Amino acid sequence: MNKTDVLDLVGIGIGPFNLSLAALIHPLEGIRAKFLDMKPSFSWHPELIFDGAAMQTSYLKDLVTPVDPTSSFSFLNYITKKGQFYHFLNTNRGAITRIEFQDYLSWVSHELEEILCFDRAVSNVSLDNDHFLIDNGFEKIHAKNICIASGPERNIPNCVKGLIGSKVFHAKSKEIEKVDLSNKRVLIVGGGQTGVETFRNILKGRWGSAKDVHLISGRENLRPLDEGAFTNEIFTPEFVEGFHSLEQNIKDNYTKSLLLTSDGNTPNYLQELYNELYMDRFYLKRFPKYRISPMRWLSEVHDHGQSYSAGIKNLFDGKNEIYEADIIILATGFTSRLPDYLNGIKDLIDFDDQGRLIIDENYKIKGRFNGCHIYAMNYSRHGHGVADPQTSLMSWRSAKIINNLKEEKIYLQNESQSSFINFFNS
Ligand SMILES: Cc1cc2nc3c(=O)[nH]c(=O)nc-3n(C[C@H](O)[C@H](O)[C@H](O)COP(=O)(O)OP(=O)(O)OC[C@H]3O[C@@H](n4cnc5c(N)ncnc54)[C@H](O)[C@@H]3O)c2cc1C
Repeated sequence: MNKTDVLDLVGIGIGPFNLSLAALIHPLEGIRAKFLDMKPSFSWHPELIFDGAAMQTSYLKDLVTPVDPTSSFSFLNYITKKGQFYHFLNTNRGAITRIEFQDYLSWVSHELEEILCFDRAVSNVSLDNDHFLIDNGFEKIHAKNICIASGPERNIPNCVKGLIGSKVFHAKSKEIEKVDLSNKRVLIVGGGQTGVETFRNILKGRWGSAKDVHLISGRENLRPLDEGAFTNEIFTPEFVEGFHSLEQNIKDNYTKSLLLTSDGNTPNYLQELYNELYMDRFYLKRFPKYRISPMRWLSEVHDHGQSYSAGIKNLFDGKNEIYEADIIILATGFTSRLPDYLNGIKDLIDFDDQGRLIIDENYKIKGRFNGCHIYAMNYSRHGHGVADPQTSLMSWRSAKIINNLKEEKIYLQNESQSSFINFFNS
């Protein structure tokens, strides 16, 4: 194998995380990289781009700005190039919508065409002496290092695993785009942001006039995201670096306590929903029958052919409740696991005592890869903390990976002043 045929890096998956890495690699000389995705062209959770759904992260924490404010792939450059700068400012918003974020990402993906390849589903990665072989159906690409960012898996509760189809489906699936809810009884499982957005859109008749809609959540209530200034100090490079070096059991307990920091509902969104419910109950009277039930856990589902009996445990009194549903939408989140395309080299990878990947401070998976590296994005919530699945620090993480790959400080890393909170120093 000719040395020049071996790339320095292949990125698997082109979501925002590898797109950030690609945007920061692009202007550099001396890194030969390619990024692969199974989709025909760039898109970002298209099933869940509802009108009015806002990003939970500032647009300044885009693909590049925190580590290279001069990059041409910034959100500000995008908005300026589109001729919208002044109008954007006049909208006077701190958060942009998901529609805008997806369009910004698509714009960057067009700018990076020469290193992004779509319609390339990676089926297998193997180790060929001193480099990886990445099989995507069309070709086998040789690369010294890979960066996996192919997204988490949909989390499907065990009791519905055998029922997945056009009437029982995860909210992030093609089914939601074509479902007709006219005159249907709908159960939504999950009261996080996706569950609440699905609920609100059903009330407004996005998929036809439903007959009845029931939102259940295992949480204590519909709870707002904790966006406090001091809370947000955990979304800093300094915090992530300090957190990574803690003992695993301390990290696990601390991460559990931060559920609302990463997975709460957008506060404005909850307020708008409440106001709409108020207007509808007392004035407009257009919404279908609905119920919002916290502290409920879906425990069993029986298939009656045309409908389903959902057994729901009431966590307040321990009693079982039954809801007859025609459609069940699972807003049950995501879970991180080793992608199938790494199964062939699984024996070379080290896992912790809970079967999780061990990922070092530079986002490299621990294993025996003959001097090659597997970088991983969005596989280390347990190791790097709740920022890992979020866009908040994605550009900083990309910078860390590039600096590590080049063994040189190319991008700014932890240049900010120390936190107002003394998290780790004694
Ligand atoms: C609806 C929604 C809204 C969100 N909003 C926010 C927010 O406001 N703020 C925030 O911080 N976080 C948010 N998140 C969380 C997180 O930022 C996103 O999930 C983000 O998309 C994760 O990026 P990613 O690049 O890891 O994965 P993804 O965006 O999931 O991209 C993974 C890509 O990998 C590709 N792929 C998978 N398998 C293969 C394969 N075998 N071969 C080739 N390609 C493959 C897929 O086609 C996909 O394009 C949101 C998540 C969702 C679902």
